[in-house]
Order: sequence, then structure tokens, then C-alpha cells
Amino acid sequence: MDLKSLIREIPDFPKPGIVFRDITTLLRDPDGLRYTIDFFALQCINNGLNADYIVGMESRGFIFGSPLAYKLGAGFIPARKKGKLPAAVHSVEYDLEYGTDSLEVHQDALPPGSRVLIVDDLIATGGTASATAKLVEKIGCELLGFGFIIELRDLQGRKYLPDVPIISLIEY
Ligand code: 5GP
Repeated sequence: MDLKSLIREIPDFPKPGIVFRDITTLLRDPDGLRYTIDFFALQCINNGLNADYIVGMESRGFIFGSPLAYKLGAGFIPARKKGKLPAAVHSVEYDLEYGTDSLEVHQDALPPGSRVLIVDDLIATGGTASATAKLVEKIGCELLGFGFIIELRDLQGRKYLPDVPIISLIEY
């Protein structure tokens, strides 16, 4: 299936000069959504990424990470923005273009030593994924790899990630 044809391009969002890859047009397509998750799971299995847990980043990592976890027989752990999780958290701060942001997971969400796959909709500069990897490693989990629906190759985000398998279904 031509997944690229289901991704809408929005010029000048969120600011002039940026072409935003809109995945809502893929999500609303029943065949496209099913194919994406099935193909994602197959790629994980083919790359030996048999994780105990999938960590998905707020918020589009939740959308793809949860059904993927279901298909792989893994648990799903949300990595949320600062202040959203109710129990005690581990936190990691990362740089944005202007300022910083934080991602958090519950301290008891991931048993140390568990095997983790990090999932998001898209990798651009790699900042978000690299911060999530730091969080996973800080907790003492084994990072098996990363899975993205979309990879923006020109930005070379994968250069900033640890040396583990990185899957992306669509490249620009
Ligand atoms: P990075 O940290 O790799 O620079 O940016 C990736 C993060 O920003 C991901 O969490 C992703 O959801 C979001 N993001 C950045 N650009 C886009 C885009 O064009 N489309 C979508 N859907 N998400 C984007």
C-alpha cells in the first residue's frame, strides 16, 4: 500500500518554511490504519524487536504505540509531558528550538532490565527520541530499538540516537 499518499503535507505549519506531515489523514483511512499497524508489527518482528514494553511519546506516539503493543503482545507505557502523570515520575529535560521541555514516565512503570522499544509517529531532529532513550536508560532498561512511521532523512535525527535498530515505514 502507498502509505505516503495517505500523509497530508501542510506547508508553513507550525511556522513559515516548515512542511508539516499530517498523519490524521492516514489515521482516518480504515485500510491505511490497519495496514500501517500490521506492517509496523511485521517490521519489528523481522528486526528481532521483541520488546516487553513499548514506550510511546505524547501524543502521537500513543496512537501508534498502543496498537503496536497489542499486536506484539507487549505492554504500553506513555511518556508524558511534564506534570501530567499522577504518581512519582522519572523525568528528562531536552532542548527545543526555544527553551526546553520534559518527558516523564512513572517510576514504577518499567521494571529495571525490561526490554523496551521506543515508538513515535515521526523522527525529525531526533531530540524527542533521544531524550526518551535517556529516560529508558536512566531507569536501567534495555533499549532494543526505535520505531517511527515517518523519518525525515535530511535532518539526520538517527545520528543522535543510540546504536540500536531503527525502523521507519516512510521516508522523506
Ligand atoms: P524531533 O524531536 O525529532 O525534532 O521531532 C519529532 C517530534 O515532533 C515527534 O514527537 C513528532 O510527533 C513531532 N513532529 C515534528 N514534525 C512533525 C511533522 O511534520 N509531523 C508530525 N506528525 N509530527 C511532527
